[in-house]
Amino acid sequence: MAFSSASYSPSIWRTEARAVIAKVRADNPGVTGPALKKLANAAYPFGPRQYHPYKIWLSELRAQFPKPRPVCKRCGGAGWYDLGGGRGSATCGCLASRAGVARG
Ligand SMILES: [Zn+2]
Repeated sequence: MAFSSASYSPSIWRTEARAVIAKVRADNPGVTGPALKKLANAAYPFGPRQYHPYKIWLSELRAQFPKPRPVCKRCGGAGWYDLGGGRGSATCGCLASRAGVARG
């Protein structure tokens, strides 16, 4: 027996999670983003949503459906730090300019 493949193989849970998500993708052509994530999550294959298999499932969902980058709610520019409860803080600098900070 030759050790031809020395690469780390993912756990059976992750392998199964990937297979299920791949099937959902194949069964729903044209569906993408949050809608597809919802369908994939509905196809959760491991019984109770707890313990190690569920953690692996969530990890795989996060990996395959990354959160979109936040957009500033004031100017639409890139950068919004969510403080929770509907509050947030712009990181794009538009708050500073609004406060009258004029340079140059
Ligand atoms: Zn802004």
